[in-house]
Amino acid sequence: MRTEETLKQWYNEVEEDIRECGIEIGRVSVFRLNGRLKRALGQCKVIMNGYEISLNRCMLLSKVPEQEVKNTIAHELLHTCPECMNHGKKWKAAAAVLMSRKPCYTISRTVDVSRLNCDAIDLGYRCVE
Ligand SMILES: [Zn+2]
Repeated sequence: MRTEETLKQWYNEVEEDIRECGIEIGRVSVFRLNGRLKRALGQCKVIMNGYEISLNRCMLLSKVPEQEVKNTIAHELLHTCPECMNHGKKWKAAAAVLMSRKPCYTISRTVDVSRLNCDAIDLGYRCVE
């Protein structure tokens, strides 16, 4: 198992990568694990003073590759861009910018579960809104 501290550190790295691409992201006031997510890896929602991003607890498992965790964090962070709460044109455009400037990222709406090395989880989507 990895620690929440590690996830927080990766979150900071992803945020920096996105900013380096010139993508304007919103203020995330809460970043946490979410034990209630069953069929998605992450969630982004609007809360009183900004955005809350939460991750499926499976992200703590060491067998889930670091880059897959970062892909999920990036997916959720892109929802904090202006008019990007859905997976529409603007969100897709921001994802395309990130993937072209930082090719290590793969951002998509759905997730190929085999990439996670974690067959115990019933997941279809990268994200729920
Ligand atoms: Zn999403």
